[in-house]
Amino acid sequence: MPALLLHVCCAPCAVLPLTELLRRSLGSPGYFNPIYPWFYNPNIQPKEEFIRRRDALAFLCSQIPLLVPGADIAVDFSPPYEPHVFLETVASEPDGALEPKRCQICYRLRLKAAAIEAHKRGFEAFSTTLLYSRRQKHDLILAEGHLAAQEIGVKFYDEDFRQGWSKGVELGKKLGLYRQRWCGCVYGAS
Ligand code: SF4
Repeated sequence: MPALLLHVCCAPCAVLPLTELLRRSLGSPGYFNPIYPWFYNPNIQPKEEFIRRRDALAFLCSQIPLLVPGADIAVDFSPPYEPHVFLETVASEPDGALEPKRCQICYRLRLKAAAIEAHKRGFEAFSTTLLYSRRQKHDLILAEGHLAAQEIGVKFYDEDFRQGWSKGVELGKKLGLYRQRWCGCVYGAS
């Protein structure tokens, strides 16, 4: 069965895509299975915040059997915390610290890494919970996802999860998920 690596930016953005994908995975033979959440976010600072978001995702995954009975899930937290990679890449490009360039760099870093990981594991495709957020630059995420897919040779699954925004917010509130007030980087809110 085709496996999907799901890059996760944070738990509030993951709850809707993750539960939907898992439901379909259980109910439709031939659909992506397994769904493999993967946490790689060198943009998040400071480290305490990174840990808070990581722990919130661990909590969400512990609740999955209640949200999607029968679903079996293992989240991958193995990617290292490497904010220097984000900062060095931003600093190395003209206007790299300014939006929208900075966000493009940020998406590229995370999505290319997700594509490489999916390819390494022999998965059919990769996707990202960034596609759920109404606060992110959706068109840039799509462009960078498809670029990474082309470069690495693995499919980018580009569903527009924003349609489930309200449902995701409700689910997150019910679970009491930690909900951060900003995107993640030291440069400012987004
Ligand atoms: S505002 Fe968000 S998307 Fe943009 S560079 Fe910072 S962390 Fe990345």
